[in-house]
Amino acid sequence: MKKIAFHWQVLIGLIIGVLFGLFLKDYVSYVSWMGIVFLRGLRMVIIPLILTSIISGIANIGNAENLGRLGLKTMVYYISTSLLAIITGLFFVNLIKPGVGADLGLVKQVTELSAVQDSFSETLLKIIPTNIFEALTSGEMLSIIFFAIVFGFFITKVDKKPSDFLTDMFNSLFEVIMKITMLVIKLTPLGVLGIVAKAVSDAPSITEFAGRMGIYMITVILGLFVHTFISLPLVLRFIGKMNPIWHFKNMATPLLTAFSTASSSATLPLTMNAIEYKSGVSNKISSFTLPLGATVNMDGTALYECVAAMFIAQAYGVDLTLGQQVIVVLTALLASIGAAGIPMAGLVMISIILSAVGLPLEGLGLILAVDQILDMFRTTVNVYSDTCGAVIIAKSEGEILNDKKLINNIHENTR
Ligand code: ASP
Repeated sequence: MKKIAFHWQVLIGLIIGVLFGLFLKDYVSYVSWMGIVFLRGLRMVIIPLILTSIISGIANIGNAENLGRLGLKTMVYYISTSLLAIITGLFFVNLIKPGVGADLGLVKQVTELSAVQDSFSETLLKIIPTNIFEALTSGEMLSIIFFAIVFGFFITKVDKKPSDFLTDMFNSLFEVIMKITMLVIKLTPLGVLGIVAKAVSDAPSITEFAGRMGIYMITVILGLFVHTFISLPLVLRFIGKMNPIWHFKNMATPLLTAFSTASSSATLPLTMNAIEYKSGVSNKISSFTLPLGATVNMDGTALYECVAAMFIAQAYGVDLTLGQQVIVVLTALLASIGAAGIPMAGLVMISIILSAVGLPLEGLGLILAVDQILDMFRTTVNVYSDTCGAVIIAKSEGEILNDKKLINNIHENTR
């Protein structure tokens, strides 16, 4: 019998998970542990994976000029696609006006709003860790990435002997971590089944999704849909000179995982795996762009932030001027950059936008009930945009991607 392709296995896991959560609610604990095991496995590899892959990737890039060029391209891609996403969201929210007439009686109590927030300049300063070990233990991604880039860069600046030794060492460490990652990845279909069964059985009742909230959800999902199936494919086609369908197919497994886990960070090991082994992007590029992308490049979240803030404004009957809408766009961009790649991180960040345009923070209570579902969709788009960035940048650096030998390699690796 022919083996079922891996992304189909993941999809089947997802579908069984949904059915399980719907019809066997009382037995969910029999499968939910698989989701916990899978997520713990992913979390176990994330920090060592980021650290070793960035250090070895940067040490292999070699010089400051290449690094600077790569950094600039990456940032330009991240900011422009996020802005594109926000503008798409703004267009639909102004067109559909989901918030007009929304029932403010549905506002729920929001707790832990104080989780927010450093100012933008503070966030920037905090990228420099005062204690790298503390940053590692508390999983401060940007600080870890910063340190790894600096460390990797200075490996190339020391004498040849220590430099070669360290490069070899980090290349080897990376290989080992990648092997462990492969093992965790093998569990994806079962993990996804467990996570989805639990999420579906915990989901709020259908009435929450009716009426205005339904229209709000449709607005967000429509925007995400246009960004994923029109805007990004056009960018892939015309800037990356790639076949968007080929790319989408290659990314099926990380995308389904992003949808199920609602976490870009947790999905990162699968994203790196697919980008390197399916698309054939070098580790040099993927290790630089993807960890950074999982933390700062969130097109889906950016779009969602804008639509949600506008929805709240509409629900409170506040007509935002053009100038205020520009502020919404810019703060949505900042909020998406600042949001961590974990479930529901984007929800609290909306308070930045609300306070920037003087809307009541309680407005968040209005969108709380449906956030979990929208999180799944926006995280998928976040990850998708990261992968598009990685292949576009790889292409622009002269890498050849869709090569037959490579595709054969993949099968060896995912078996
Ligand atoms: N869950 C999203 C992510 O991990 C962040 C968000 O809440 O918008 O990408």
